[in-house]
Amino acid sequence: MIFDEVMTGFGRTGQLWAAHHLHGAPDLMCLSKGLTGGFLPMGVTATTEVLYRAFDGDSFAQAFAHGHSYTANPLACAAALASLDLTLSPETAAHWARIGAAHAAFLPELAAHPCLQHVRQCGTVLAAEIHGAGEYGGNVSLDLRRFFAARGLLLRPLGNVVYLLPPYVVTNEELRQGHEALLAAATGFGRPHGGAHGEGAS
Ligand SMILES: *Cc1c(COP(=O)(O)O)cnc(C)c1O
Repeated sequence: MIFDEVMTGFGRTGQLWAAHHLHGAPDLMCLSKGLTGGFLPMGVTATTEVLYRAFDGDSFAQAFAHGHSYTANPLACAAALASLDLTLSPETAAHWARIGAAHAAFLPELAAHPCLQHVRQCGTVLAAEIHGAGEYGGNVSLDLRRFFAARGLLLRPLGNVVYLLPPYVVTNEELRQGHEALLAAATGFGRPHGGAHGEGAS
């Protein structure tokens, strides 16, 4: 069982790992992004002890013959260790809860917008689809990116799917700016779905 926690790890979903929302434990876990808090590039493939032992030994025949030029880069490791200290502190968990609560409080307003669909949240991640603004992965993302940048937000929509993954230091006021920008983008780029004339249900 492989869990890719590159995006979901380090508290993103409200728990330290997305795996904690599920039953069963992964045999392999992929970690990156939040590992160094985004300051230096570093990835980790973590395994269970059993899997690790299968490749551990003096014989090359037993080796997992794969490596990266910069494996265990000392600066990146130092950044990761410093970031892990912060990640595992109670203050940081309080920020996950604070951001999650702010998203949850905003969810009804977002869901009520006539141009938004599939509004959803998991921990600090908030996502919604702008109806009538093209498809997932479509080119509208470039215009949306400019729209958000003009409002001071660095977002990367995937086509008409906009998602917020705020840094944990985000203030409540900044979060509100993000939420309001999302509503403005829905109004500016979307078309109402469903509605009084009954054209197309959501
Ligand atoms: C960003 C991302 C990756 C790529 O990770 P790298 O460390 O840049 O190779 C893989 N999986 C998910 C879910 C990601 O978000």
